[in-house]
Amino acid sequence: MTKASELIRSRIRDVADYPKTGVLFKDITPLLGDHTAFAAVIDELSEVHANGVDKVVGIEARGFILAAPVAYHSGAGFVPVRKKGKLPAATFEESYDLEYGSATVEVHQDAFAPGDRVLIVDDVLATGGTAQATAELVRRAGAEVVGISVLLELSFLNGRERLPGLLVRSLVVV
Ligand code: AMP
Repeated sequence: MTKASELIRSRIRDVADYPKTGVLFKDITPLLGDHTAFAAVIDELSEVHANGVDKVVGIEARGFILAAPVAYHSGAGFVPVRKKGKLPAATFEESYDLEYGSATVEVHQDAFAPGDRVLIVDDVLATGGTAQATAELVRRAGAEVVGISVLLELSFLNGRERLPGLLVRSLVVV
């Protein structure tokens, strides 16, 4: 937990049974609409690895909103990891299970320089499948994952267990 945790926590809205029955969806749009809370999130996500990151990866779609300003703030490039079929050039792809459903993500094969140090950013760490697949994509593309930073971790889903050996940082844990 961090110094801005309470502010951040207060701006995340729980929406029951979205996108399907039984899921408690963590809606970050109230946070994004509050300049103070949004700025605190970007500042805190950027503190980690700020001196040693070449690229910041954002995971479609909410991860983009956080990762792009973190990349700018950190003096790093931004790389999108997208759902299958959205990237125009040659890609690597990974499939995985979600808390609700399954998905395939892709990254451009030439997104990284060899040995690039990469920070992965997303909004929510749930089961860890998305982050695990993204870390694998980064490695397959020849770069090094130096950490995974998320706004919110759903600790009861044990996502960290799927990310052994990786530095996982969460601004808020529930
Ligand atoms: P997972 O692969 O299970 O860790 O799921 C992480 C991805 O799914 C993130 O990109 C989140 O945006 C989204 N996600 C999963 N569960 C939730 C939830 N309860 N509320 C909001 N987003 C979620």
